[in-house]
Amino acid sequence: MLNKKSVDDINVKGLKVLVRCDFNVPMVDGKITDENRLVAALPTIKKLIADGGKVILCSHMGKPKGEPKPELSLAPVAVRLSELLGQEVKFAADATVVGENAKAAVAAMNDGEVVLLENTRYRAEETKNGEAFSKELASLCDVFVNDAFGTAHRAHCSNVGVTEYVDTAVVGYLMQKEIDFLGNAVNNPERPFVAILGGAKVSSKISVIENLLDKVDTLIIGGGMAYTFSKALGGEVGKSLLEEDYCEYALKMLDKAKEKGVNLMLPVDTLCGDDFSNDANTMVVDCGCIPADWEGMDIGPKTAALYAEAVKTAKTVVWNGPMGCFEMPKFAGGTEAVAKALSETDAVTIIGGGDSAAAVNQLGYGDKMTHISTGGGASLEFLEGKELPGVAAANDK
Ligand code: AMP
Repeated sequence: MLNKKSVDDINVKGLKVLVRCDFNVPMVDGKITDENRLVAALPTIKKLIADGGKVILCSHMGKPKGEPKPELSLAPVAVRLSELLGQEVKFAADATVVGENAKAAVAAMNDGEVVLLENTRYRAEETKNGEAFSKELASLCDVFVNDAFGTAHRAHCSNVGVTEYVDTAVVGYLMQKEIDFLGNAVNNPERPFVAILGGAKVSSKISVIENLLDKVDTLIIGGGMAYTFSKALGGEVGKSLLEEDYCEYALKMLDKAKEKGVNLMLPVDTLCGDDFSNDANTMVVDCGCIPADWEGMDIGPKTAALYAEAVKTAKTVVWNGPMGCFEMPKFAGGTEAVAKALSETDAVTIIGGGDSAAAVNQLGYGDKMTHISTGGGASLEFLEGKELPGVAAANDK
Protein backbone atom coordinates (compact mmCIF):
# COMPACT_ATOMS: atom_id res chain seq x y z
CA MET A 1 0.00 0.00 0.00
CA LEU A 2 1.36 3.40 -0.94
CA ASN A 3 1.67 5.62 2.08
CA LYS A 4 2.98 9.01 1.04
CA LYS A 5 3.29 12.15 3.14
CA SER A 6 0.75 14.75 2.12
CA VAL A 7 0.10 18.44 2.71
CA ASP A 8 -1.71 17.38 5.89
CA ASP A 9 1.56 16.05 7.35
CA ILE A 10 3.66 19.22 7.11
CA ASN A 11 3.71 22.70 8.60
CA VAL A 12 4.40 25.28 5.90
CA LYS A 13 3.97 28.47 7.97
CA GLY A 14 6.42 31.04 6.60
CA LEU A 15 7.97 28.53 4.18
CA LYS A 16 8.35 28.80 0.41
CA VAL A 17 6.31 25.95 -1.04
CA LEU A 18 6.75 24.96 -4.69
CA VAL A 19 3.60 23.19 -5.93
CA ARG A 20 3.65 21.20 -9.18
CA CYS A 21 0.12 21.46 -10.56
CA ASP A 22 -1.49 20.26 -13.77
CA PHE A 23 -2.57 23.51 -15.43
CA ASN A 24 -2.36 21.97 -18.90
CA VAL A 25 -5.77 23.37 -19.85
CA PRO A 26 -7.14 23.65 -23.39
CA MET A 27 -6.84 27.18 -24.80
CA VAL A 28 -8.30 28.82 -27.88
CA ASP A 29 -7.07 32.31 -28.83
CA GLY A 30 -5.65 32.91 -25.35
CA LYS A 31 -8.92 31.88 -23.65
CA ILE A 32 -9.21 28.85 -21.38
CA THR A 33 -11.99 26.63 -22.78
CA ASP A 34 -12.15 24.09 -19.92
CA GLU A 35 -11.06 25.10 -16.43
CA ASN A 36 -11.68 21.76 -14.67
CA ARG A 37 -7.98 21.32 -13.98
CA LEU A 38 -7.71 24.74 -12.36
CA VAL A 39 -10.72 24.08 -10.15
CA ALA A 40 -9.34 20.65 -9.22
CA ALA A 41 -6.10 22.25 -7.99
CA LEU A 42 -7.81 24.73 -5.64
CA PRO A 43 -8.15 22.59 -2.48
CA THR A 44 -4.39 22.08 -2.15
CA ILE A 45 -3.58 25.71 -2.99
CA LYS A 46 -6.18 27.03 -0.52
CA LYS A 47 -4.88 24.74 2.22
CA LEU A 48 -1.31 26.02 1.75
CA ILE A 49 -2.47 29.66 1.70
CA ALA A 50 -4.52 29.13 4.86
CA ASP A 51 -1.50 27.55 6.58
CA GLY A 52 0.59 30.65 5.84
CA GLY A 53 2.89 29.24 3.16
CA LYS A 54 4.42 31.29 0.36
CA VAL A 55 2.82 29.40 -2.49
CA ILE A 56 4.84 29.10 -5.73
CA LEU A 57 2.89 27.30 -8.45
CA CYS A 58 4.36 25.63 -11.53
CA SER A 59 3.04 23.52 -14.39
CA HIS A 60 3.60 22.61 -18.00
CA MET A 61 1.20 23.53 -20.79
CA GLY A 62 1.18 21.80 -24.16
CA LYS A 63 4.39 20.97 -25.94
CA PRO A 64 6.50 24.09 -26.55
CA LYS A 65 9.48 21.74 -27.16
CA GLY A 66 11.93 23.54 -24.93
CA GLU A 67 11.51 27.10 -26.10
CA PRO A 68 9.23 30.02 -25.23
CA LYS A 69 6.01 29.96 -27.28
CA PRO A 70 3.74 32.90 -26.37
CA GLU A 71 0.58 30.91 -27.17
CA LEU A 72 1.61 28.37 -24.54
CA SER A 73 2.34 30.90 -21.80
CA LEU A 74 0.66 30.31 -18.44
CA ALA A 75 -0.18 34.04 -18.13
CA PRO A 76 -3.95 33.49 -18.77
CA VAL A 77 -3.94 30.82 -16.05
CA ALA A 78 -2.65 33.36 -13.50
CA VAL A 79 -5.53 35.70 -14.38
CA ARG A 80 -8.20 33.00 -14.01
CA LEU A 81 -6.64 31.52 -10.87
CA SER A 82 -6.67 34.98 -9.25
CA GLU A 83 -10.42 35.14 -9.87
CA LEU A 84 -11.02 31.61 -8.62
CA LEU A 85 -8.96 32.15 -5.44
CA GLY A 86 -10.19 35.67 -4.81
CA GLN A 87 -6.66 36.94 -4.40
CA GLU A 88 -3.84 37.97 -6.71
CA VAL A 89 -1.76 35.26 -8.34
CA LYS A 90 1.36 37.10 -9.44
CA PHE A 91 2.67 35.80 -12.77
CA ALA A 92 6.46 35.54 -13.01
CA ALA A 93 6.99 36.04 -16.75
CA ASP A 94 10.36 34.45 -17.39
CA ALA A 95 11.46 32.77 -20.61
CA THR A 96 13.83 30.63 -18.55
CA VAL A 97 11.11 29.88 -15.94
CA VAL A 98 13.49 30.44 -12.99
CA GLY A 99 14.95 33.76 -14.16
CA GLU A 100 15.35 37.17 -12.57
CA ASN A 101 11.58 37.87 -12.58
CA ALA A 102 10.76 34.63 -10.80
CA LYS A 103 13.53 35.08 -8.23
CA ALA A 104 12.48 38.67 -7.50
CA ALA A 105 8.78 37.72 -7.26
CA VAL A 106 9.56 34.93 -4.80
CA ALA A 107 11.91 37.10 -2.73
CA ALA A 108 9.13 39.69 -2.32
CA MET A 109 6.47 37.20 -1.16
CA ASN A 110 4.62 37.49 2.13
CA ASP A 111 3.02 34.52 3.87
CA GLY A 112 -0.19 33.40 2.12
CA GLU A 113 0.74 35.00 -1.21
CA VAL A 114 0.78 33.15 -4.52
CA VAL A 115 3.17 33.31 -7.50
CA LEU A 116 2.83 31.32 -10.73
CA LEU A 117 5.95 30.44 -12.74
CA GLU A 118 6.04 30.26 -16.55
CA ASN A 119 5.43 27.00 -18.50
CA THR A 120 8.09 24.54 -17.27
CA ARG A 121 8.39 23.08 -20.76
CA TYR A 122 9.86 26.35 -22.01
CA ARG A 123 13.02 24.65 -20.75
CA ALA A 124 14.33 21.79 -22.88
CA GLU A 125 15.75 20.04 -19.78
CA GLU A 126 12.29 19.71 -18.19
CA THR A 127 11.26 16.53 -19.99
CA LYS A 128 14.79 15.09 -19.72
CA ASN A 129 14.84 15.44 -15.94
CA GLY A 130 18.02 17.55 -16.27
CA GLU A 131 20.02 18.42 -13.17
CA ALA A 132 20.48 22.18 -13.71
CA PHE A 133 16.78 23.05 -14.08
CA SER A 134 15.85 20.69 -11.23
CA LYS A 135 18.33 22.55 -8.97
CA GLU A 136 17.02 25.95 -10.10
CA LEU A 137 13.46 24.96 -9.22
CA ALA A 138 14.57 23.58 -5.86
CA SER A 139 16.50 26.79 -5.12
CA LEU A 140 13.19 28.69 -5.05
CA CYS A 141 11.63 26.68 -2.24
CA ASP A 142 11.90 25.03 1.17
CA VAL A 143 9.21 22.40 0.55
CA PHE A 144 7.90 20.68 -2.60
CA VAL A 145 4.32 19.51 -3.20
CA ASN A 146 3.35 17.36 -6.19
CA ASP A 147 -0.32 17.62 -7.13
CA ALA A 148 -0.03 16.75 -10.84
CA PHE A 149 -1.17 13.15 -11.34
CA GLY A 150 -1.38 13.55 -15.13
CA THR A 151 2.42 13.66 -15.40
CA ALA A 152 3.17 11.27 -12.53
CA HIS A 153 4.21 8.52 -14.97
CA ARG A 154 6.98 10.75 -16.33
CA ALA A 155 10.25 11.65 -14.60
CA HIS A 156 10.64 15.36 -15.32
CA CYS A 157 12.51 18.15 -13.48
CA SER A 158 9.36 19.70 -12.03
CA ASN A 159 7.96 16.52 -10.50
CA VAL A 160 10.94 14.20 -9.92
CA GLY A 161 14.31 15.96 -10.41
CA VAL A 162 13.43 18.79 -8.05
CA THR A 163 12.77 16.35 -5.18
CA GLU A 164 16.44 15.36 -5.11
CA TYR A 165 17.37 18.85 -3.97
CA VAL A 166 14.70 19.53 -1.35
CA ASP A 167 14.38 17.84 2.04
CA THR A 168 10.60 17.65 2.06
CA ALA A 169 8.55 16.41 -0.89
CA VAL A 170 4.89 15.53 -0.31
CA VAL A 171 1.74 14.97 -2.36
CA GLY A 172 -1.25 17.31 -2.65
CA TYR A 173 -4.92 16.39 -2.23
CA LEU A 174 -5.49 15.55 -5.92
CA MET A 175 -2.56 13.15 -6.02
CA GLN A 176 -3.59 11.65 -2.70
CA LYS A 177 -7.08 10.93 -4.06
CA GLU A 178 -5.69 9.21 -7.16
CA ILE A 179 -3.32 7.09 -5.08
CA ASP A 180 -6.09 6.14 -2.66
CA PHE A 181 -8.63 5.15 -5.31
CA LEU A 182 -6.42 3.57 -7.96
CA GLY A 183 -4.02 2.03 -5.45
CA ASN A 184 -6.77 0.64 -3.25
CA ALA A 185 -8.77 -0.69 -6.17
CA VAL A 186 -5.86 -2.59 -7.60
CA ASN A 187 -4.13 -3.78 -4.45
CA ASN A 188 -6.85 -4.05 -1.87
CA PRO A 189 -10.20 -4.22 -3.67
CA GLU A 190 -13.49 -5.06 -2.13
CA ARG A 191 -14.69 -8.14 -4.05
CA PRO A 192 -16.11 -9.07 -6.46
CA PHE A 193 -13.60 -6.93 -8.38
CA VAL A 194 -14.48 -6.39 -12.05
CA ALA A 195 -12.22 -4.68 -14.59
CA ILE A 196 -13.55 -3.49 -17.93
CA LEU A 197 -11.00 -2.92 -20.67
CA GLY A 198 -11.75 -1.44 -24.06
CA GLY A 199 -10.18 0.98 -26.49
CA ALA A 200 -8.44 0.46 -29.75
CA LYS A 201 -5.62 -2.01 -29.37
CA VAL A 202 -4.55 -5.07 -27.42
CA SER A 203 -0.92 -4.02 -27.85
CA SER A 204 -1.34 -0.86 -25.77
CA LYS A 205 -3.06 -2.71 -22.92
CA ILE A 206 -0.92 -5.86 -22.69
CA SER A 207 0.62 -5.05 -19.33
CA VAL A 208 -2.75 -3.95 -17.94
CA ILE A 209 -4.38 -7.25 -18.95
CA GLU A 210 -1.49 -9.26 -17.48
CA ASN A 211 -1.48 -7.36 -14.20
CA LEU A 212 -5.25 -7.32 -13.76
CA LEU A 213 -5.59 -11.06 -14.41
CA ASP A 214 -3.65 -11.54 -11.15
CA LYS A 215 -6.09 -9.33 -9.23
CA VAL A 216 -9.64 -9.39 -10.60
CA ASP A 217 -12.56 -11.81 -10.34
CA THR A 218 -13.97 -10.82 -13.73
CA LEU A 219 -12.24 -9.22 -16.72
CA ILE A 220 -14.49 -7.75 -19.39
CA ILE A 221 -13.06 -7.03 -22.84
CA GLY A 222 -14.66 -4.71 -25.36
CA GLY A 223 -13.68 -2.15 -27.99
CA GLY A 224 -11.39 -2.72 -30.94
CA MET A 225 -9.15 -5.08 -28.99
CA ALA A 226 -11.93 -7.69 -28.78
CA TYR A 227 -11.51 -8.58 -32.47
CA THR A 228 -7.98 -9.84 -31.96
CA PHE A 229 -9.36 -12.24 -29.34
CA SER A 230 -12.17 -13.21 -31.69
CA LYS A 231 -9.76 -13.92 -34.58
CA ALA A 232 -7.48 -15.88 -32.25
CA LEU A 233 -10.46 -18.11 -31.42
CA GLY A 234 -11.03 -18.81 -35.13
CA GLY A 235 -13.67 -16.14 -35.83
CA GLU A 236 -14.15 -13.98 -38.90
CA VAL A 237 -13.61 -10.28 -38.14
CA GLY A 238 -13.99 -8.69 -41.59
CA LYS A 239 -12.34 -5.25 -41.73
CA SER A 240 -12.36 -4.80 -37.94
CA LEU A 241 -9.33 -3.57 -36.05
CA LEU A 242 -7.03 -6.56 -35.83
CA GLU A 243 -3.53 -7.10 -34.52
CA GLU A 244 -2.59 -10.47 -36.05
CA ASP A 245 0.72 -10.43 -34.17
CA TYR A 246 -1.18 -10.49 -30.90
CA CYS A 247 -3.47 -13.46 -31.56
CA GLU A 248 -1.10 -15.82 -29.80
CA TYR A 249 -0.88 -13.45 -26.86
CA ALA A 250 -4.68 -13.29 -26.72
CA LEU A 251 -4.83 -17.10 -26.45
CA LYS A 252 -2.22 -17.01 -23.71
CA MET A 253 -4.34 -14.53 -21.76
CA LEU A 254 -7.40 -16.77 -22.13
CA ASP A 255 -5.34 -19.64 -20.70
CA LYS A 256 -4.04 -17.47 -17.88
CA ALA A 257 -7.59 -16.44 -17.00
CA LYS A 258 -8.63 -20.10 -16.79
CA GLU A 259 -5.62 -20.94 -14.65
CA LYS A 260 -6.36 -18.06 -12.26
CA GLY A 261 -10.09 -18.74 -12.10
CA VAL A 262 -10.86 -15.33 -13.61
CA ASN A 263 -14.11 -14.98 -15.55
CA LEU A 264 -12.84 -13.41 -18.80
CA MET A 265 -15.82 -12.12 -20.78
CA LEU A 266 -15.64 -11.44 -24.52
CA PRO A 267 -18.38 -9.90 -26.70
CA VAL A 268 -21.00 -12.35 -28.01
CA ASP A 269 -22.34 -9.95 -30.65
CA THR A 270 -21.09 -6.89 -32.51
CA LEU A 271 -22.57 -3.80 -34.11
CA CYS A 272 -20.90 -3.56 -37.53
CA GLY A 273 -20.71 -0.76 -40.05
CA ASP A 274 -19.98 -0.87 -43.77
CA ASP A 275 -17.85 2.26 -43.43
CA PHE A 276 -15.83 3.86 -40.61
CA SER A 277 -18.25 6.77 -40.26
CA ASN A 278 -21.40 7.80 -38.45
CA ASP A 279 -23.27 7.56 -41.78
CA ALA A 280 -22.42 3.88 -42.21
CA ASN A 281 -25.12 1.26 -42.70
CA THR A 282 -25.20 -0.97 -39.65
CA MET A 283 -26.13 -4.49 -38.62
CA VAL A 284 -25.70 -6.67 -35.58
CA VAL A 285 -23.97 -10.01 -36.04
CA ASP A 286 -22.72 -12.72 -33.70
CA CYS A 287 -19.09 -12.40 -32.74
CA GLY A 288 -16.76 -14.19 -35.11
CA CYS A 289 -19.28 -13.88 -37.98
CA ILE A 290 -18.43 -10.44 -39.39
CA PRO A 291 -18.76 -10.37 -43.21
CA ALA A 292 -15.62 -9.51 -45.20
CA ASP A 293 -16.58 -5.91 -46.07
CA TRP A 294 -17.93 -4.99 -42.64
CA GLU A 295 -16.22 -3.68 -39.58
CA GLY A 296 -16.99 -4.16 -35.88
CA MET A 297 -17.55 -0.69 -34.39
CA ASP A 298 -19.26 -1.39 -31.06
CA ILE A 299 -20.36 -4.25 -28.82
CA GLY A 300 -23.82 -5.56 -29.69
CA PRO A 301 -26.97 -5.38 -27.52
CA LYS A 302 -26.67 -8.92 -26.10
CA THR A 303 -23.11 -8.18 -25.02
CA ALA A 304 -24.10 -4.85 -23.50
CA ALA A 305 -26.79 -6.61 -21.44
CA LEU A 306 -24.34 -9.31 -20.27
CA TYR A 307 -21.72 -6.73 -19.28
CA ALA A 308 -24.32 -4.61 -17.44
CA GLU A 309 -25.40 -7.73 -15.52
CA ALA A 310 -21.79 -8.55 -14.63
CA VAL A 311 -21.19 -5.22 -12.85
CA LYS A 312 -24.48 -5.34 -10.91
CA THR A 313 -23.11 -7.52 -8.12
CA ALA A 314 -19.58 -6.10 -8.18
CA LYS A 315 -18.13 -4.22 -5.21
CA THR A 316 -15.26 -2.61 -7.13
CA VAL A 317 -15.20 -1.77 -10.84
CA VAL A 318 -12.28 -0.28 -12.76
CA TRP A 319 -12.95 0.82 -16.33
CA ASN A 320 -10.40 1.82 -18.95
CA GLY A 321 -11.20 2.23 -22.63
CA PRO A 322 -14.50 2.66 -24.52
CA MET A 323 -16.53 -0.33 -25.77
CA GLY A 324 -16.72 1.05 -29.32
CA CYS A 325 -16.20 4.10 -31.48
CA PHE A 326 -18.12 6.26 -28.99
CA GLU A 327 -17.13 9.48 -30.74
CA MET A 328 -19.72 8.55 -33.40
CA PRO A 329 -23.23 8.60 -31.87
CA LYS A 330 -24.27 5.54 -33.90
CA PHE A 331 -21.57 3.51 -32.19
CA ALA A 332 -21.73 4.95 -28.67
CA GLY A 333 -24.50 2.61 -27.46
CA GLY A 334 -22.24 -0.06 -25.94
CA THR A 335 -20.12 2.48 -24.07
CA GLU A 336 -23.27 4.23 -22.85
CA ALA A 337 -24.81 0.94 -21.66
CA VAL A 338 -21.71 0.21 -19.58
CA ALA A 339 -21.60 3.79 -18.23
CA LYS A 340 -25.27 3.51 -17.26
CA ALA A 341 -24.72 0.14 -15.57
CA LEU A 342 -21.82 1.60 -13.58
CA SER A 343 -23.93 4.57 -12.57
CA GLU A 344 -26.53 2.18 -11.13
CA THR A 345 -24.30 -0.24 -9.23
CA ASP A 346 -23.43 0.16 -5.54
CA ALA A 347 -19.82 -0.71 -6.32
CA VAL A 348 -16.92 1.70 -6.02
CA THR A 349 -16.52 2.79 -9.64
CA ILE A 350 -13.17 4.06 -10.89
CA ILE A 351 -12.73 5.41 -14.38
CA GLY A 352 -9.26 5.54 -15.93
CA GLY A 353 -8.45 8.89 -17.49
CA GLY A 354 -8.28 9.71 -21.18
CA ASP A 355 -10.98 8.33 -23.48
CA SER A 356 -12.99 6.51 -20.81
CA ALA A 357 -13.21 9.67 -18.71
CA ALA A 358 -14.14 11.68 -21.80
CA ALA A 359 -16.82 9.12 -22.74
CA VAL A 360 -18.36 9.03 -19.26
CA ASN A 361 -18.47 12.83 -19.07
CA GLN A 362 -19.71 13.25 -22.65
CA LEU A 363 -22.53 10.77 -22.01
CA GLY A 364 -23.54 12.61 -18.82
CA TYR A 365 -22.61 9.98 -16.21
CA GLY A 366 -19.56 11.77 -14.76
CA ASP A 367 -21.12 12.73 -11.43
CA LYS A 368 -22.38 9.16 -10.85
CA MET A 369 -18.89 7.63 -10.67
CA THR A 370 -16.90 7.29 -7.46
CA HIS A 371 -13.68 8.51 -9.03
CA ILE A 372 -12.66 9.68 -12.48
CA SER A 373 -8.90 9.77 -12.82
CA THR A 374 -7.31 12.99 -14.05
CA GLY A 375 -4.47 11.13 -15.77
CA GLY A 376 -4.88 8.91 -18.84
CA GLY A 377 -1.34 7.57 -19.22
CA ALA A 378 -0.68 7.72 -15.49
CA SER A 379 -3.79 5.74 -14.55
CA LEU A 380 -2.98 3.11 -17.17
CA GLU A 381 0.51 2.67 -15.70
CA PHE A 382 -1.02 2.40 -12.23
CA LEU A 383 -3.25 -0.43 -13.54
CA GLU A 384 -0.18 -2.06 -15.07
CA GLY A 385 1.18 -2.29 -11.53
CA LYS A 386 4.11 0.00 -12.34
CA GLU A 387 5.70 2.38 -9.89
CA LEU A 388 5.00 5.94 -11.03
CA PRO A 389 8.15 8.08 -10.72
CA GLY A 390 6.16 11.16 -9.71
CA VAL A 391 4.54 9.24 -6.85
CA ALA A 392 7.68 7.36 -5.83
CA ALA A 393 9.60 10.65 -5.47
CA ALA A 394 7.36 11.88 -2.64
CA ASN A 395 8.47 11.14 0.96
CA ASP A 396 6.98 8.05 2.61
CA LYS A 397 5.04 8.48 5.84
P1 AMP B 1 -7.54 3.73 -26.36
O1 AMP B 1 -6.78 5.01 -26.47
O2 AMP B 1 -6.74 2.52 -26.66
O3 AMP B 1 -8.33 3.62 -25.07
O4 AMP B 1 -8.60 3.77 -27.55
C1 AMP B 1 -9.67 4.64 -27.60
C2 AMP B 1 -10.19 4.66 -29.01
O5 AMP B 1 -10.57 3.36 -29.38
C3 AMP B 1 -11.40 5.54 -29.20
O6 AMP B 1 -11.04 6.62 -30.01
C4 AMP B 1 -12.40 4.63 -29.89
O7 AMP B 1 -13.05 5.23 -30.99
C5 AMP B 1 -11.53 3.49 -30.39
N1 AMP B 1 -12.28 2.26 -30.60
C6 AMP B 1 -13.07 1.62 -29.72
N2 AMP B 1 -13.65 0.56 -30.29
C7 AMP B 1 -13.25 0.52 -31.57
C8 AMP B 1 -13.54 -0.35 -32.67
N3 AMP B 1 -14.37 -1.37 -32.54
N4 AMP B 1 -12.94 -0.08 -33.84
C9 AMP B 1 -12.11 0.99 -33.96
N5 AMP B 1 -11.78 1.83 -32.95
C10 AMP B 1 -12.36 1.59 -31.78
